[in-house]
Amino acid sequence: MARIHKLNVKSIYMGRLKRGDDLLEAITKVCRENGISLGRVEAIGAVEKATLGYYDQAGKEYEYFTVDTPCEITSLLGNISLRDGEPMVHAHLTLAGRDGAVFGGHLASGTKVFACEIVLETFDGPEFKRGFDEETGLALWEI
Ligand code: ZN
Repeated sequence: MARIHKLNVKSIYMGRLKRGDDLLEAITKVCRENGISLGRVEAIGAVEKATLGYYDQAGKEYEYFTVDTPCEITSLLGNISLRDGEPMVHAHLTLAGRDGAVFGGHLASGTKVFACEIVLETFDGPEFKRGFDEETGLALWEI
């Protein structure tokens, strides 16, 4: 059975990140500095390079790949919850190159911002904490 909680929207933050920022670290920093531990994030913009992950379900580990070419962020979607008592941003990124072909994956450190506009929505509700899930090998919500 799905594990679902009803939450209420609290606040919306909207802004832009700096050129040269590490995308994942910059969003995490915004959360830390504003006391955000429950919410969702979306963004568009462009990156100078990216590091993305693909979860190998059989091997239960992430495989990372790097894209060393400037790309459009056609979509960043993610959420914010708690891991080990700290805000953790879990985001997936879809990028497009010069020819418009898209690809994507799990956002990892090492993704360098060229320009990025973010909208962050925070919620009131019970804490969402991540813990190790034996079945998948992932840090999933224990709700
Ligand atoms: Zn992911």
